Amino acid sequence: MMIIMQPGATQEQVDHVIELIEVNNLSAHSIVGVEQTIIGAVGESHNVSPHVFETLSGVQAVQRISQPYKLASRQFHPENSIFSLNGFTIGGDEIPIIAGPCSVESRSQIIDLAQIIKETGANALRGGVFKPRSSPYSFQGLGEEGLQYMAEARELTGLPIVVEVMAVSQVSNMIKYVDMLQIGARNMQNFNLLRAVGDTRIPVLLKRGMSATIEDLLLAAEYILAGGNNRVVLCERGIRTFETATRNTTDINAIPVLKSLTHLPVILDPSHSTGYANYVSAVSKAAVAAGADGIIVEVHQDPAHAISDGRQSLTPEDFAIMVSKIKLIAEAVDRRLVPSKFTLPLGER
Ligand code: PEP
Ligand code: MN
Repeated sequence: MMIIMQPGATQEQVDHVIELIEVNNLSAHSIVGVEQTIIGAVGESHNVSPHVFETLSGVQAVQRISQPYKLASRQFHPENSIFSLNGFTIGGDEIPIIAGPCSVESRSQIIDLAQIIKETGANALRGGVFKPRSSPYSFQGLGEEGLQYMAEARELTGLPIVVEVMAVSQVSNMIKYVDMLQIGARNMQNFNLLRAVGDTRIPVLLKRGMSATIEDLLLAAEYILAGGNNRVVLCERGIRTFETATRNTTDINAIPVLKSLTHLPVILDPSHSTGYANYVSAVSKAAVAAGADGIIVEVHQDPAHAISDGRQSLTPEDFAIMVSKIKLIAEAVDRRLVPSKFTLPLGER
């Protein structure tokens, strides 16, 4: 961290800054210029806020040199983090596709859909059972019953399951069922929840808050990593802008930016980022071309009658077409899709 003193700052003010640097267990290194003094604070400065110095008299500005998210940063971990998740890896050359409905609606819906999408390229099954809905009167999810159906779908297909956790009180029960815990956009800065999933050793899919900066997302990931859970996957899911033609605005920039700032895998959710099924394939291809490590996409057997997010859900047929297109893009950028495993003989589908 560099503390830039105002022109004409007194020696007393400089000494006070140095004293505070040392109180924070950092060492101070001053560069005395003709007009201004700059003091470098060296050491474990990621846990010392620049605000501590900004308010001191005689200080003009404080600049961080290293990023405040030490564990998530590439500065301290230059290689990509690659995790395995029941049969495939994420963060390496392979690009997994996570697919499924917005909400688990019934046992037959999730089991049938899991079998269909597995055959057309899904590597993991998503499905919400606790739904963060804007209205308290909208369907809130099947809860524990839905978790049991997801677990059954995994038993039948071998697809690992990804389910959103909404509250700290749900964590201990959910980890008995799920392969990956999803933290939704609305909970990205629920710091108690981040700490609670950081205490587990279950991989976490952390979605970007709709008004969160890239730094906010990385600091949220830092909470989970600081708990000792290092399997965190970041997910761009669109941000709120002035644009109303789509549900959110896909921040494609975030993919190469995140990939340069962090070693964690970065995936895209084209369903929530666009809000319309007919844009999902184009944006998914753009994401893979831009370096995304995976896609999480909403698919429903009958989008018109889906209980939630039908407008943005692909039919299984459109999902299959999209996967075949993404495969070509992946190969063009020297990556590959995870080979899908067919376990069910055709006659038993
Ligand atoms: C979801 O994945 O169904 C969801 C609610 O997403 P987000 O948290 O990104 O809105
Ligand atoms: Mn949804």
